[in-house]
Amino acid sequence: MTALATLIKEMILHDGPISLDRYMALALAHPEHGYYKARMPIGAEGDFVTAPEISQMFGELVGLWAVEVWHGLGRPVPLRLVELGPGRGTLLADALRAAKVAPEFRAALDLHLVETSEILRRHQEHAIASCAIAAHWHADIADVPRGPMIAIANEFFDCLPVRHFVSDAGAWHERLVGLDAEGRLRFGLSAEPELGLGAAAEAGAILELGIAAVRVMRDIAGRIATQGGALLVIDYGYDGARFGETLQASRRHRSADPLEAPGEADLTAHVDFEAMRRAALSAGAAVHGPVTQGEFLSRLGIFQRAATLRRHADAAQCAAIDAALARLTGCGSATPDPRSMGELFKVLAVTGPGAPVPPGFPVEGS
Ligand code: SAH
Repeated sequence: MTALATLIKEMILHDGPISLDRYMALALAHPEHGYYKARMPIGAEGDFVTAPEISQMFGELVGLWAVEVWHGLGRPVPLRLVELGPGRGTLLADALRAAKVAPEFRAALDLHLVETSEILRRHQEHAIASCAIAAHWHADIADVPRGPMIAIANEFFDCLPVRHFVSDAGAWHERLVGLDAEGRLRFGLSAEPELGLGAAAEAGAILELGIAAVRVMRDIAGRIATQGGALLVIDYGYDGARFGETLQASRRHRSADPLEAPGEADLTAHVDFEAMRRAALSAGAAVHGPVTQGEFLSRLGIFQRAATLRRHADAAQCAAIDAALARLTGCGSATPDPRSMGELFKVLAVTGPGAPVPPGFPVEGS
């Protein structure tokens, strides 16, 4: 049993069952035993691999995206370049290197990294050390100083806790984490029905609400609507209301039981892009997309970038470039896989109302 499981059990014995979002917040962010506090989650030695770790092309294209968006904003100085959950810092390092083509953009930058993990902060410092741009770290985006900003969030929103409601006897009941007769963590339902969620669906249906993600989106979009800037969200998720849960635990590249080893497995949920869209619009911002990651990267020119890299590569490097391209875009394999990153990952941008459509997204009517 993990140390955190013992703590959570004591908490439940003392105060009763806890909501799923509270459980996720403890499992991921407990100050001592939380998953992101104590380990390196990303990469071969971790539990998952992200797009910037698959290929340098990903961060480079995001860097060039930011340069173009900055021009569209009227080249504000300073520009807060913010990354939410920068992981090992790979995306930012690749983005800043690619942005060397625009020295005036780099000169305008004021870097802000929003990160709660000490271990990852150290990796990020190391990754961007050679870029010679002053950087600031924060635990919360609210601490980034006012002014126009371009914010990037790759696989950040999926880490934020969700709540589940289950339809039972004609009403929605919140799913709680409690204890079974043997004292093991297990899911149960709140006895009190939850009001205000609309009519209950058929018995057993699950409503998953990413309330924390919506709150963060509303705050950032409100800021962009009034102070200018853009937010780029890249994550796995779905577009359109639906029932069902997407909570998943992964431990050493395998799926695991979310209640089995809190603090040792990564817990994520798919992002509800429709809810994110509505949150941004309600805050007065404009929304572009979502489009699939495959579409976004091909509009940004990933195939041309790969062709350039191939020109200076040996046979093994060429094969690695092609494999990365197929993994990131879903193109190039004989049978397109709906679960590939190119399809499953979606990209959404938020801008101020009236700002130009950012690169990578369709212009209305085109
Ligand atoms: N963007 C990176 C890493 C994704 S993993 C990449 O693409 O490789 C998720 C990242 O979000 C990690 O850096 C994690 O420490 C951070 N994170 C998770 N929850 C967070 C929170 N509530 N506030 C700030 N950072 C968080």
